[in-house]
Amino acid sequence: MRGKKKKALITGISGQDGSYLAELLLENGYEVHGIVRRINLEDPERRLWRILHILDKIHLHVGSIDSYPTIFNIIEKVKPDEIYNLAAQSFVVYSLDEEINALNTNINSTMYILSAMKERVPECRFYFACSSEVFGIAPYSPQNEDTPFNPRSVYGISKAAGFYIVKYFRQNYNMFCCSGIAYNHESPRRGFEYVTRKITNTAVRIKMGLSKELRLGNLEAKRDWGYAPDFVRAMWLMLQQNEPDDYIIATGETHSVRELLEFAFECVGLDWKKYVVEDPILYRPAEPVELKGDYSKAKKKLGWSPSVNFYQMIETMIKEDLKLYSK
Ligand code: GDP
Repeated sequence: MRGKKKKALITGISGQDGSYLAELLLENGYEVHGIVRRINLEDPERRLWRILHILDKIHLHVGSIDSYPTIFNIIEKVKPDEIYNLAAQSFVVYSLDEEINALNTNINSTMYILSAMKERVPECRFYFACSSEVFGIAPYSPQNEDTPFNPRSVYGISKAAGFYIVKYFRQNYNMFCCSGIAYNHESPRRGFEYVTRKITNTAVRIKMGLSKELRLGNLEAKRDWGYAPDFVRAMWLMLQQNEPDDYIIATGETHSVRELLEFAFECVGLDWKKYVVEDPILYRPAEPVELKGDYSKAKKKLGWSPSVNFYQMIETMIKEDLKLYSK
């Protein structure tokens, strides 16, 4: 007889990571549930494009992660075995309103989910999408799980708070809660506002005669850029261990925006210097110093390592963007 199907609940299922994670869990035989906002269901072609191909295989629940009753009811109804908390206000914010909003949403939602989980499904396993932004101005590089937090953005502050909330439930209530401290991760499903997708997409558009220039900020900024499908594999692995723990998920390599640019344009056979305009407006007010992750704990304990390198990832993104426009 086959065992009972495991149930997973994902917040942020319509985002880059949520969509890859849903695919992975379906492949692994899970019943997959996700929380989406009503507005997303009203315009699935535009707002659920990353999960359109699996919509008939997953269960979507309408609700806002800002609401404790909503979260409680969904958890009560689904009774998940695993929860992946990926939803967050993640893009760089500039105004006070946006900052307050991001802090409230990111901190409260984690608290709400864990509190409801404690009440209704205390045996459930929980993954929190923490971020390398918690390191901000890091005292050394590469960072590991023992590196002190020193966030420089509101997003980083909210992720640091989330990390400690997760730890609090793990230590005080003995619940199976993990944080993955993930460095930047990209894919053909990345939003256009992120520099990787902005570059691959615009390079392709210029090649196709659909755009004339590419405006960018700081070309010398460096990131540890991984591949999103690899990262969701690490998330799942964390919840399959005997003990809950926190892990760095990274590639251990950094590249600059300039390198990204050179390679992406080379892929489409163009010279980037003819098209790129440096725009001071796109410079960030507070850049973290170079962040690079040491993923040796994940490698040792989870048997995890990246399956593709930076160049292979950018090439995949270019190929998918070419497909998008040749349709
Ligand atoms: P995140 O800021 O690390 O979450 O990721 P982004 O992809 O938004 O930015 C990565 C780096 O690219 C940052 O250091 C930015 O300053 C730099 N960058 C340079 N030009 C641009 C641009 O036009 N858009 C964005 N988003 N980032 C840029």
